[in-house]
Amino acid sequence: MSQVVRVVPDVPSFAVDDGFAYSVPETLQPIRMGAMVRVPLGGRTVRGYVVDADATSDRKLRPIKGQTGDLPVFDAGLLQTLRWAAIHYVSPLGPMLAKAAPPNVPRLLPDVDLDPVAVTESPLPEITNRAASGGRIPPHALLQTGPWATTVAGLASGVLAAGRNVAVVVPTVGEVGELAAALPFGNRVHMASSQYPARQTTEAWAASQTGHGVLVIGTREITTWPMGDLGLMIVVEPGRRSLKAPQTPTLRVGDIARRRAAVEGLGLVYLGPVPPSEVVAAGTRISRPRGRVWSRVEVVDRRSATLSGIVTDATRRALQTVTSRHGSAFVFVPRRQEYLVCRACGEPRRCMSCGSAVPREPVCRRCSTVNGACQHCQNDQFRAVGLSVGRVIDDLRRSIDSVGASGSGSAVVVGTERDLVGQPAVDISVLLGLDSMLLAPNYRAGEEALRIGARVAGMVRAGSGRRCILETGMPDDPVVGALVSGRPDEAMATLVDGRGASGFPPVTEIIAVDLSGPPPTAGSMLELQPDGATVLGPAIDEGSSRWLIQGRDLRPFRLGLRSAVHEWREEGRRVRIDADPIDL
Ligand SMILES: [Zn+2]
Ligand SMILES: [Zn+2]
Repeated sequence: MSQVVRVVPDVPSFAVDDGFAYSVPETLQPIRMGAMVRVPLGGRTVRGYVVDADATSDRKLRPIKGQTGDLPVFDAGLLQTLRWAAIHYVSPLGPMLAKAAPPNVPRLLPDVDLDPVAVTESPLPEITNRAASGGRIPPHALLQTGPWATTVAGLASGVLAAGRNVAVVVPTVGEVGELAAALPFGNRVHMASSQYPARQTTEAWAASQTGHGVLVIGTREITTWPMGDLGLMIVVEPGRRSLKAPQTPTLRVGDIARRRAAVEGLGLVYLGPVPPSEVVAAGTRISRPRGRVWSRVEVVDRRSATLSGIVTDATRRALQTVTSRHGSAFVFVPRRQEYLVCRACGEPRRCMSCGSAVPREPVCRRCSTVNGACQHCQNDQFRAVGLSVGRVIDDLRRSIDSVGASGSGSAVVVGTERDLVGQPAVDISVLLGLDSMLLAPNYRAGEEALRIGARVAGMVRAGSGRRCILETGMPDDPVVGALVSGRPDEAMATLVDGRGASGFPPVTEIIAVDLSGPPPTAGSMLELQPDGATVLGPAIDEGSSRWLIQGRDLRPFRLGLRSAVHEWREEGRRVRIDADPIDL
């Protein structure tokens, strides 16, 4: 009896999504679901993935040419999630299936004796026990600040001791190495990232696919790996930008992990001080400490503060006190930011329609409203407030000796979000430029400001007098209130409600479509428009067109979009689809 398999070729075309049936020569039998194979297609031989190992056909079939490697790259559960992702992110299925595979050929590794596991107390014993025994449990968000090693070890040790695998997804490759070095699991720990050599990452893939009690720490690529007998997935700071792929398909780690947890029955823990809006909107159970999630936050109101430079005198004195006691401090400055404040009353200049910062020209970049004088005092003179790491260092050096950029070894380090990775705990952290983050012309501005503010506050070590100093001209903003209270939940719930009212994710779904060349014939996007979706655009910019599609449930639209994308690509256009965009 000849085996028949259905194979989806790894080619970027929606036309082959259903795959094709092939016969399997006896010498290659049996071929398993998820096997990577070589098949004839047109006049070529291409790589493909077996999506059905028990197919039937009454036609004469062409045989597969061979199997690549000796390990399958997905099972039925992971396949279900990858099929969902192909539709959600409007991607052909073949390239989505390829995301389950390692960079090199997936081969069986020789057996190794795993180091013993020291079992430590889990901060969520119910999750750890269920993940260890294979029982189902809904996802949890555990609100805390880094470093993460003790928490990750506590969550994972019972699962590893039971012989099941653990995946830990972190935002950057620097954090992969940092966390791996701090975990007490010896040779059970494997590191993976597209920035490591392909051989090392393939070994981590194979070790988890065949091992029992292995932990993989990696960047976002590992979210779609099979990882064998996987019991628990931990996503560290799921709201960070690097946990969403910037290129089409724009996979978001938190959403893929949630799907996998539901389908495969994995334990899932989102770890970080602020739960992202998507995690809140999905009704995730939230576990928080009894008191504050991060250190004490002291507000310095810039509207009434004495300024003899960029930084207020109150902050300057606090930094002088810390350095005179041989303590350390971190001063946070947002990347690229400038906004206007009223010369008379000091209030930031905000759009009267949408609340975003208004630049020198009065037209709002976000909603095109034309703005006039200060809404608070009717004065029409504004001055620019701009920060940069260099300017803040120069300003502080006038009164403090040891000030420098990250890596300078100075007592007072000035840096941006990138510099927070690997930064040791400090006695005082200073958050500058929160207002520019709150005013950013972006629907996620409040959430981003809260997330970053919590990270900066989370750098402060425990102890009296230690605190985060927050300079703001907007002390009544709910995000400032949340940072001061040390509890993010209520503000996040309010932000999510506001998104619902204004038609933004995660309450409303949005897809952005960018198309090179002249806009296609009028109405073509509208022809795809199913009930309940709104099509905005096209906005035409430098030879490309952009549409935004908004709706409560865009699944019918996503399905219709596939054939349109196919046609546009046939016409030679570049198509970029951003599902759940974060820059709007
Ligand atoms: Zn004013
Ligand atoms: Zn506006």
